[in-house]
Amino acid sequence: MGSKGREILGMDVDKVLDLLNKAYADEWLAYYQYWIGAKISKGPMKDAVNAELLQHAADELRHADMVSMRIIQLGGTPLTHPKLWLEKTNCGYDEPSDPYVETLLHQNIKGEQCAISVYKAMMDATREGDPVTYNMALQILQDEVEHEEDLQSLKEDLEMMLSSHGK
Ligand code: FE
Ligand code: FE
Ligand code: MG
Repeated sequence: MGSKGREILGMDVDKVLDLLNKAYADEWLAYYQYWIGAKISKGPMKDAVNAELLQHAADELRHADMVSMRIIQLGGTPLTHPKLWLEKTNCGYDEPSDPYVETLLHQNIKGEQCAISVYKAMMDATREGDPVTYNMALQILQDEVEHEEDLQSLKEDLEMMLSSHGK
């Protein structure tokens, strides 16, 4: 890492790197959960749901890229083996074993809610000691908040459509 960049770090670099690598694991798992969900989904509004899932998958991959660049800036190494994703993750991996669209939406909403908590905690931990990581976490948090809202409103539309059919 650049020397002045290190000098302004007001906290333990290993602590930041640990938070970053755990979030890095989350992003890859979130990416795959969205990506595979969009391949296998079944049910009403499938096309609209898949378009949203694929858009979110692309965002999660971009987040993994942002987090990896900060890890490298800080002199760390992003996790080099996928098996470590499951060991390090905060939010886990919710396997889409039921392809029904509403179930997928429900699982991904839970994932976004976890991601929101993770980046809020990262911001709280770095607010004073690492403004660069703080700013990255804020940018990602804004996307995760948008993701949660997108999915909740799709789920609402789906529920409205299903209940009007039942009348
Ligand atoms: Fe993300
Ligand atoms: Fe997200
Ligand atoms: Mg979206």
